[in-house]
Amino acid sequence: MTSLDDLPIRDDLRGQSPYGAPQKPARIALNVNENTHPIPEEVARDIVESLAGAILTINRYPDREFTHLREGLADYLGHDLTRENLWAANGSNEVLQQLFQAFGGPGRSVLIFPPTYSMYPILASGTGTRVIRAERDADYGISPETVTRWIEQEKPDLVILCAPNNPTGTPLPIGTIEAAYAATTGMLIVDEAYAEFMPDDAPSAITLLEGRERLVVSRTMSKAFAFAGARVGYLAADPAVVDALRLVRLPYHLSALTQAAASAALRHTPAMLAMVDDIREQRDRIIDELPALGFQPLPSWTNFVLFGGVEDPNATFEALLEHDVIIRDVGIPGHLRVSAGTRAETTEFLRALGTIAS
Ligand SMILES: *Cc1c(COP(=O)(O)O)cnc(C)c1O
Repeated sequence: MTSLDDLPIRDDLRGQSPYGAPQKPARIALNVNENTHPIPEEVARDIVESLAGAILTINRYPDREFTHLREGLADYLGHDLTRENLWAANGSNEVLQQLFQAFGGPGRSVLIFPPTYSMYPILASGTGTRVIRAERDADYGISPETVTRWIEQEKPDLVILCAPNNPTGTPLPIGTIEAAYAATTGMLIVDEAYAEFMPDDAPSAITLLEGRERLVVSRTMSKAFAFAGARVGYLAADPAVVDALRLVRLPYHLSALTQAAASAALRHTPAMLAMVDDIREQRDRIIDELPALGFQPLPSWTNFVLFGGVEDPNATFEALLEHDVIIRDVGIPGHLRVSAGTRAETTEFLRALGTIAS
């Protein structure tokens, strides 16, 4: 039988592993930070109606510039952004990949701050971009001084800051983003996949875009908007950045069905985001209740919680699976990560963990 090693694959891809969050069947799935609330029925109906309209002209290529969707996204973000500032793709993973294609590549480097989103090194490897791994401060923070020191020392072409950070959940001070921009001559990407779960008064990096043409803020509809299966991510940046991405995107990369579904969902933003408060409540409940079970949760501005004090993460992961609950072993010794689910799911997780821990 042929194996990967028998193929004339690129040398730099030999021995690499694909992105691998386990997709095991479990009744309570709290492993990949999805929004576990289904979308409201009236929204679902409107989306289906839009899809039905789009299918009638599916013999034609879609609007390559997805103008209507970019307008909807600009309206949603506010801050005087227009469609010229907006770009979208099939998940923010594709948005990030296009940024690597345009601004990274052979002979270029990206600075990341592990533990952080596991896709960054994979996107770097796919585009031949060298990865530089910086170190965080104690408690997984990154101070303005730390980010400045690493950028001045390494002079990367790309810097990615995940704010708030996955898999730790920890916030990133806006001052660190300002300092990073001031220190680098390259592109600064702020991945705000979890922005909607931050406290309401916490500023987004979008507030820094004015006058900073090398700053890119990446967002997704996968988490707060409960749209992970539709694959819609987007970014806000200077229009020149959008011009750069037009050079690397595949023609018609966003299907007419994706554009129709996403635009319809954006028409129902309040209903779609109604679950965010609920999820934040369950997240805070996990943080409140874990210490009594003997675990140490980290502060979180996201829809998940990383907790320490786990003697054998793999054993606890497997024991929870026995209870039909799947969470995530993110490879940080002594820690596991759990997404905040509905109230009922969160209750089942806490009950199962309590049984295992005692
Ligand atoms: C979930 C997540 C994404 C979103 O990926 P999509 O491709 O939009 O589904 C991006 N960045 C981080 C840090 C994430 O956790």
